[in-house]
Parts: sequence; structure tokens; C-alpha cells
Amino acid sequence: MPNSAADLALNVAFFRSWITELRDVIDARCDELTRLDAAIGDADHGVNMLRGMQAVVAALDGAAATPADVLGTAGTRLVAVVGGAAGPLYGTAFRSMAASLEGVASPTLADLATALEAGLAGIQQLGAAQVGDKTIVDAWIPAVDALKHTSDRPQQAFWSAAAAARKGMVSTVPMRARKGRASYLGWRSEGHQDPGATSTALLFESLAAAAG
Ligand code: ADP
Ligand code: MG
Repeated sequence: MPNSAADLALNVAFFRSWITELRDVIDARCDELTRLDAAIGDADHGVNMLRGMQAVVAALDGAAATPADVLGTAGTRLVAVVGGAAGPLYGTAFRSMAASLEGVASPTLADLATALEAGLAGIQQLGAAQVGDKTIVDAWIPAVDALKHTSDRPQQAFWSAAAAARKGMVSTVPMRARKGRASYLGWRSEGHQDPGATSTALLFESLAAAAG
């Protein structure tokens, strides 16, 4: 349920909308994510992410009274349901965001930027990827940077973050993978867009879509 520009509150309803939007966009782009993973991985990223997001949305029915509850449930379900690299990485990201927003009923944009930064820190603690390694980090870092350095209203800020994530996603095309399954390919991973950076771009796009 998109909020109007005048009354966007980053409350529990907004966080639920974000998660539902993310499930919908992963559903719509599942084949594309899988095709990207077929080129440099094992062709499961789309189905992994869709299975995870469907489980998250099912777990949110009824429960989850605060933004931290929504994010914490998402993180726990993703870790439990999604195998491979992406499940633990995205799961950790959502759990770190939940910890950052614990006890905050209606976060400010700055609170959410801090939470997303905590999510990124969780991803990097677990996966040790840096910029240029051809991973989700290449999309996540520029998006967090954009959010942290904006004075825009949330709607514009989220679209700037989504555009930054998309740019980071495109930047992975010429990179040689240094983390994850794609790194086994060495130079043959060059010239392909990273599937995880692509799902991260969708994560930030769905944040913007939830804001209306
Ligand atoms: P798997 O590689 O186990 O099949 P997925 O296909 O679901 O898992 O996810 C692959 C994506 O995970 C890659 O495209 C990459 O973006 C991301 N990834 C892999 N390893 C790491 C890591 N160490 N840090 C960050 N992201 C990573
Ligand atoms: Mg895979």
C-alpha cells in the first residue's frame, strides 16, 4: 500500500509493504536472476530468493508489530529457507537491520540509512567481500552511500538509492569474481552481471516502490 508524499511514515505498515514489494519483484524477475546465475554460478539465485521471500511473507501474516519484528522475521526465515550464499548473507543483513531498529516504532530516514549500513556491515562480516569483488556488496555500498548523504524526502532518497544500486549492479559486468561460486571461473566470470548485485538492486527498488 503506497503512502502519499505528504504522509509517508516509516512505520510497521511501510516495512511490510517493502517486504511484499520485494517478494513481488523477485517473483517477476525470478527467471532473469536464475539466467544470470546460470552464466557464472549454478542457476539457482532466482528460485532461492523467491522461495525465501515467499516464506518471509507467509511468516509475516498476523505477527510482526514493529519494523524490527518485520526485519527480524525476514532475516530468520531467509537464513532458514534459502540455501547457498545468498540466504545467510541476506538473512544476516535483515537481522542486523532489525537489531539496529530495535524499539523504534517509526524510524526516521536517517535511522533507516543507519540500519541499512548495519545490514551491509553484517554482509561484509560474514562474506568478507569488498567493492570490486563482484557481489551484492557492489550494489549495496553505493545505495547506502546515497541514502546517507541525502537531504531529500524519503521518496526521492529511496529512488536515488535505487539508482545508485543499479549503477553498482551494472559496474559488476566487467569485474572478475573474487568471492562465491563465480570466483571458481576466474577470468571467465568477466562480462557477466552478478546475480546477487542484481537482487540487491531489486531490494532498493522495492524500498522506493513501497514509498510510492
Ligand atoms: P550460491 O552461489 O550458493 O548458489 P546464490 O546463487 O543464491 O548462492 O547467490 C549468489 C550470489 O551471492 C552471487 O551472485 C554474489 O552476489 C553473492 N555472494 C556470493 N558470495 C558472496 C560473499 N562472500 N559476499 C557477498 N556476496 C556474495
Ligand atoms: Mg547460485
